[in-house]
Amino acid sequence: MRNFLALLELQGFKSFAGKTTLEFPSRVTAVVGPNGSGKSNIIDAFRWVLGEREAKQLRGDTLENLIFAGTPKKAAVSVARVSLCFDNHENILPVDGAEAVLSRRVDRSGVSEFTLNENEVKLRDLLPMLAKARMGTRGLMIVGQGQSDIFVRSTPDERRLMIEEILGLREFRIKKNQAERRLDSSRINMDKVKAMLEELAPHVRILRRQRARFLKRAEVESELKALEHAYFYERFHTLQARTTTEETPLLALKKRIREIEETVEQQERELKRIHEGQGGYEKAKGIRESVNTLLMESSALQRNLARIEARIEYESKTPEQTHEAHEFQTLLQEVAHDIEYLISLSDLNAIKHSLERWKERLHKFFGGEKVSAPRALEEEKERMRHELEAIEKKIRALQTEEETLARAEEEKNKLFRERVEEVNKKKNELHALEQELQRALLEKERVELQREELEREWMSLGYAREDLKKLTPPGERIEAQEGFSGAERKMVRLRGELSAIGEIDENLMKEAEESEARFSFLSAQLEDLEKASKDLKELIEDLDHRIHEDFKKAFHAISNEFNTYFRLMFAGGSAHLSLVSKKQSAPILEGEQAADAAQEKTEEAQERSRETESGVEIHVTVPRKRITNLEMLSGGEKTLVSLAALFAMIAVSPPPFLVLDEIDAALDEENARRFAELIKNFSEKTQFIIVTHNRAPMEAADVLYGITMGDDGVSKVLSMKLEG
Ligand code: ATP
Repeated sequence: MRNFLALLELQGFKSFAGKTTLEFPSRVTAVVGPNGSGKSNIIDAFRWVLGEREAKQLRGDTLENLIFAGTPKKAAVSVARVSLCFDNHENILPVDGAEAVLSRRVDRSGVSEFTLNENEVKLRDLLPMLAKARMGTRGLMIVGQGQSDIFVRSTPDERRLMIEEILGLREFRIKKNQAERRLDSSRINMDKVKAMLEELAPHVRILRRQRARFLKRAEVESELKALEHAYFYERFHTLQARTTTEETPLLALKKRIREIEETVEQQERELKRIHEGQGGYEKAKGIRESVNTLLMESSALQRNLARIEARIEYESKTPEQTHEAHEFQTLLQEVAHDIEYLISLSDLNAIKHSLERWKERLHKFFGGEKVSAPRALEEEKERMRHELEAIEKKIRALQTEEETLARAEEEKNKLFRERVEEVNKKKNELHALEQELQRALLEKERVELQREELEREWMSLGYAREDLKKLTPPGERIEAQEGFSGAERKMVRLRGELSAIGEIDENLMKEAEESEARFSFLSAQLEDLEKASKDLKELIEDLDHRIHEDFKKAFHAISNEFNTYFRLMFAGGSAHLSLVSKKQSAPILEGEQAADAAQEKTEEAQERSRETESGVEIHVTVPRKRITNLEMLSGGEKTLVSLAALFAMIAVSPPPFLVLDEIDAALDEENARRFAELIKNFSEKTQFIIVTHNRAPMEAADVLYGITMGDDGVSKVLSMKLEG
């Protein structure tokens, strides 16, 4: 069987000033030497390197006392170091390699450091490793000087821990204790967080309401803004569309008007020309007057002709004188007749012409040139007929001319009327177009005014004028007119809502956000703590279960073995161990917490927890004695009971090694011999390092180390390998 413990090296530790090595090549090593030589310092070295923190357990006041303090002959050192080397083939310690070297050093500043295979390791990490490897400093693995009756002296709880250590359950106990401590601090933190949350909650509620109101404001604001943009976009573009649709016809209209104006002007010029070229009326009037004159002349000639014809007839029937008188009478009648006629005339030329003719006739009558002969009258008649014919010819010519003139006039008038009609038509058209243009211009102006009004409205909302043109088409279009009035109503409503909400208080918003963040943080923290508590409770339950099960399994066996070794040592009697509920020890959970925890646990778990926390009681019946109380036992008997318990535990669950410092001190020779035998027997399973003054245990050892202390006050080791 391999020896788990390979060697112990001390340097500067207590009385071991120099580097001192104790190898453990065999199953039982005995350390012997005179009083005060430093044997127990070696046991202290074991305890210290295995993580003992209490100076008392190391027989010193301070850590500094562990460092070689110097003697009159040997100077003090500044550092104490102890190393334990283990065979780690079975991976009892979690390090790579076949060997594990655990070292601890301390200097005078009090700084203590652990290394495992030269890697620094924290004590809190080391302790569970050692517990797992079933190495502890407070149980029965290292029994110090004067502690031989430790099992009897200990409380039920301490006894339980000793058994757990031997059984390798200390690892779970440490974990359980750690979990319980974490659970406690979790609960404290949970209470703190809950209190903070409760304090914060009403404030957060108020701030949430305020914030919600302000957030609503932002919502309404953005809805209003979107609506305003959509509304102004649509209105602006509707006006814009009207402007562009009106601009083109307006130009066409103007062009058309210009064209028609030109046509009218041209037509009017034409009319004027036609009008100016008329003059026919004056001409016709002249012709008419000439015709009238000629007609009068003709009628005068006809009358004269008739008179001449009447004279010719008369002359042919009446004498000369009668004839003359008659002629004169006729002349006078004619004069009277012509005077009447002349009075009616207005044409001076015609009057003049008639008077000329009368002058000629009168001259002829009174000058003696009498027309007495019918021939003369005939000639006169003939001349007059010619003259009459000429006049009538003239009249006909003039009448023809008059007719032609009248027809031409008629034609012209017709053309004039037609042109006038055309001009009027065009003028009407022009008038209609001008009215249309007027209307279009008015409409344009109206649009312009509306756009200016729109811009004013837009700017009154606090926007820049140029932004109106830059608006982008809204997602949801607004129909013109009906949609506009709907949007206007909605904008009024939204503005009303905004003023009802009021202005945003930025400080309050900030405070609300901060409080909310803190509330969320605390809530998350509480959740984490609750989860952690739940996990820890589960872990504790699991560990309880493990400790409980393993302990229960081993406990009866230990109790039985205890009886066996007790009977061996006391040569009879009986002994057993029992579990007792905790009485004095403080409960792990208190008050409400305990109640809560209890509620959360199943009955089985509660029972298990109770049992896990129960202590170990010793019951003995010593032969021939009536022992009702362990205190009644002698010192040696107490040691024997303790040893019986120790060997019972080793029998059930042998630890890798045991370090026992003079635990046989109180035994008589017979018992010391029995003790040595038991060690020998158990050395198969467990490695022993014993400090003893008794021969029998020394004889049981394979290796004996003698510790001496010279004049210099420094402990030294003498090695004596013994023959088996
Ligand atoms: P006994 O057989 O009487 O129990 P022991 O061999 O177990 O004796 P220890 O108790 O191991 O003796 O050793 C005690 C000695 O160690 C004392 O002489 C003490 O002076 C010495 N010692 C203890 N601490 C220191 C220290 N820090 N520096 C120097 N010497 C020390």
